[in-house]
Amino acid sequence: MTASAVVIVSDVIRNGKSVMGFAFDSIGRYSHGGILRERFIPRILNAHSENYQDPDRGGLDPFKIWNILMRGEKPGGHGERPGAVGLVDAAVWDLIAKLEDKPLWRLLAERFGDGIGQPHVPVYATIGHYHSENDIAQLGNDVRTCLDLGFSTVKIKAGGAALSEDERRIDTALGIINGQGSLALDLNGMMSQTEAEIFIKKIADRELAWIEEPVGPLDFEATKAVAQATDIPIATGENLFSAEDTRNLLLYGGLRHDRDILQMDISLSYGIVEYLRILDELKLHGWSRKQCAPHAGHLLAYNTVAGLDLGLHETTPYGDLSSALKVKDGFAEPTTSPGVGFENHPGFKLIFDDIASPLL
Ligand code: MG
Repeated sequence: MTASAVVIVSDVIRNGKSVMGFAFDSIGRYSHGGILRERFIPRILNAHSENYQDPDRGGLDPFKIWNILMRGEKPGGHGERPGAVGLVDAAVWDLIAKLEDKPLWRLLAERFGDGIGQPHVPVYATIGHYHSENDIAQLGNDVRTCLDLGFSTVKIKAGGAALSEDERRIDTALGIINGQGSLALDLNGMMSQTEAEIFIKKIADRELAWIEEPVGPLDFEATKAVAQATDIPIATGENLFSAEDTRNLLLYGGLRHDRDILQMDISLSYGIVEYLRILDELKLHGWSRKQCAPHAGHLLAYNTVAGLDLGLHETTPYGDLSSALKVKDGFAEPTTSPGVGFENHPGFKLIFDDIASPLL
């Protein structure tokens, strides 16, 4: 996979420095840079500022910018477009929050939430990729580390080995968690409906928080069949990229709004502007925001979970972002710095400084 980063430099100077908006890619896609340079960045740079200003608040209007980005784009057939648009959208939101001198989650809570946001953000840890050597021992260490770090829900990969091997992994993880938390499985959408049904039947007696992407993310018939075959919650959506896709999933995927989990990745799905439309779809179909657990564990998602009262934030416990999160009993504190909060992470700061320096 590749990653892109975007910096927007404003003409507002504070403490002798330009106020800037930052965005860094989500995980799981390729090559946003090409279409950003070719289409999306020129559209914004060529637009007149009165076409994207917020006349009431001053500063930028993210909805107007989104419309400029999507000018001339045909609907549907997303390709890599939603992730590229999502990056510009994220940098815009970061800049707006910095201009208002508040964390992004607070701005989102004020404009689109309850005005307060979540003082304790529910988080879970994603670990348990397959290792070519000492797989079970490494899996056990990973699970123990997550519990020691304060996580209570831990997700591991499954479906990538023989069924008996996966059972060993699941039972190892459950043995370490020992009722002190819960275990989820991520199958990454690689199974056919029949394979998924066999897998789920085999592990049905285990206590699981959810099973993620048991089948292809766009195969709604298979998703529905699998959901009907188990009481275990099903999680999916990280490979759906729009409000329209979400509507189809809710209408035809057979998911149950009392338990199933929706994981649309905010950054890969045209950004926060489109994610707000996704939340409107949820409401329309009787789903609570609490069923949302956005994919990928990036800071944009963290702010959105905190500000819009979503159900759960995915975290990769070994990453630069997560090392700054203080987790206790499965909850973390919201960030305090203005914007998305990249400034607290030295690795990201270096990348953004590098991009911004020729622009200043
Ligand atoms: Mg996943």
